[in-house]
Amino acid sequence: MRLRQDGLKYQGMRRQLVNKVREMLEQDGLMDERVLEAMMNVPRHYFFDSTFDMKYAYDNAAFPIGAGQTISQPYTVAVQTTLLEINKRDKVLEIGTGSGYQCAVLCEMGAKVFSIERQKLLHDQSQKILDHMGYRPRLFYGDGYKGKPAFAPFDKMIITCGAPYIPDALKEQLKIGGIMVIPVGEGNTQRMLRIVRHSENEFEEVDFGTFSFVPMLENTNR
Ligand code: SAH
Repeated sequence: MRLRQDGLKYQGMRRQLVNKVREMLEQDGLMDERVLEAMMNVPRHYFFDSTFDMKYAYDNAAFPIGAGQTISQPYTVAVQTTLLEINKRDKVLEIGTGSGYQCAVLCEMGAKVFSIERQKLLHDQSQKILDHMGYRPRLFYGDGYKGKPAFAPFDKMIITCGAPYIPDALKEQLKIGGIMVIPVGEGNTQRMLRIVRHSENEFEEVDFGTFSFVPMLENTNR
């Protein structure tokens, strides 16, 4: 597989995108410079199919990545990552690897990432790209509803597809003191929830507004 080139042109477009995302986050009262720095360091166009004009990679928009799925809007990636309050070496579980872009941003921030994807094509593609970029997440092909009990508990969890409800298995695998960021809702829009686990049975929930994700699907045919 041939990696695309980065260069001044793409870095310039990326700088503009990151500045725009910074303004939006400031309006929301959310800010973590480390997230923006990681987004500045990860070439988003590497995650795009070569049949598209690469300039689309630096629009603040979701975009098709194959198998009927989309790479999340950069602003959405920034919000979810900021809400996670990532520390170096945090063990993070992602549901919905998709293109691998969100996973790369987390790796760039020093997290140990475990990510699950139910589309074989996307799982295989993202594995190749992330590998070529030198990131070493653990990627799994399977059903995110089950989480990854063998590697639990996780410091952080990020769900990048719209969940109809918060799966119990995921709550169980969250460390006490851990944070889960999950868009919840059926249909075209979801509410972005940040869940903090305070004790075995105490979960605090804060709502960060409306977002739009592809659905988190149940019953993988495997
Ligand atoms: N984080 C991705 C966003 C991809 S879109 C990125 O940065 O590109 C959401 C992804 O969730 C899709 O690829 C979809 O196939 C996947 N998905 C949906 N339901 C799932 C499930 N039950 N388990 C794992 N992945 C799922």
